[in-house]
Amino acid sequence: MPHMNLMSYFRNSAGVLMFFCLILYVVWTSTGDYERSSVATVTINESTFVCKENFIDTRTFLVKSPITHGTDTNETGSDNFMSTTIYFITPTYPRREQFAEIVRLGQTLMNVPNLHWIVADDTDSCNPQLDEFLNRFGMPYTHISSPMPDFYRSQKPMPRGVANRRAAINWIRQNGKKPGVMYFGDDDNTFDLRLFNEIRSTKGVSMFPVGLIGLYSVSAPIVRHGKVIGFFDSWVSQRLWPVDMAGFAVSLEYLEKSPNSTMPYKAGFEEDGFLRSIGLRMHEIEPKAKNCTEILVWHTQTKKEKPALIHIDDRNVESADSSLGPLLKTLESLGVSHTNPSSGVKAQIAKNSKAKDLTNRTV
Ligand code: UDP
Ligand code: MN
Repeated sequence: MPHMNLMSYFRNSAGVLMFFCLILYVVWTSTGDYERSSVATVTINESTFVCKENFIDTRTFLVKSPITHGTDTNETGSDNFMSTTIYFITPTYPRREQFAEIVRLGQTLMNVPNLHWIVADDTDSCNPQLDEFLNRFGMPYTHISSPMPDFYRSQKPMPRGVANRRAAINWIRQNGKKPGVMYFGDDDNTFDLRLFNEIRSTKGVSMFPVGLIGLYSVSAPIVRHGKVIGFFDSWVSQRLWPVDMAGFAVSLEYLEKSPNSTMPYKAGFEEDGFLRSIGLRMHEIEPKAKNCTEILVWHTQTKKEKPALIHIDDRNVESADSSLGPLLKTLESLGVSHTNPSSGVKAQIAKNSKAKDLTNRTV
């Protein structure tokens, strides 16, 4: 650097040093907190609020069917088997599609006996609408609000659903009843009812294929002679456990063995980090879904759109004269659409094949 004077050399090296410190800090905070033996050293500002806990099952229509109770009498037919509670962890977040997902998933879970649904909302307030929906399904549930810390929200790619899964894991550590099994079920996935028979018998850690993942359209353990010998997943990237979040279940007994284990805020490496943190070993994995030959869970994704902004005369929204006002208020409360008296898509009423404007007049 012949043209650089001493001061700017020092300024630059200080800058370089600071840059490296920053990189080190980021790497440290995103990996250091899930090593099995390490203590939690990270100072991220996580806030968790348990909005509602319901331990009462009000479902009355459950019939003992082979689909929900299993067909393999050796393993799944006993009362002992059904006494294991499935703790189903669903991270969710406010957006236009949220309640559609909750209805679809909730009505799947309604069919599953002895299941406790942990719905952890990525937001800083308790949404009363969410409680209303969860109450209607009738199964026991816990509603948590656990927003992603701002630091991670600005990252690209963003670690989606981590703060809420961590909050749910903590809740299970404090409230989970044994025998129990925890499972991460995202709000947009599709779950075959047969999945629940498989995961309920998890002794330590079980694994199974997930459909619609990556370039192979599947992510699956490869099994030989009843043992997992590797993984079929198109994105390895040095992951020890190249599996999807929906591709494994962990018993509460196993989870308890590593009280500091958790999920890292590291996009793409959440599963790997969590499974490393619980100290999993290859020979321990229990293959499910007919030795990993069947798909019992699908990584479906819902198309995401912005909520509609409807330009409409406020009198239509405030009045209960017609159904329109109450309907628009319902949609507003579910985050599906908003109304505005001066901007947005023009509202109209269709009548006798004609459209009449509602931006300046009432229904
Ligand atoms: N999620 C969240 N906060 C976000 C984005 C996503 O809690 O800001 C949840 C989402 O509801 C889902 C999970 O995290 O249950 C995974 O997110 P998504 O389905 O968008 O990602 P995918 O795995 O399908 O790419
Ligand atoms: Mn998803």
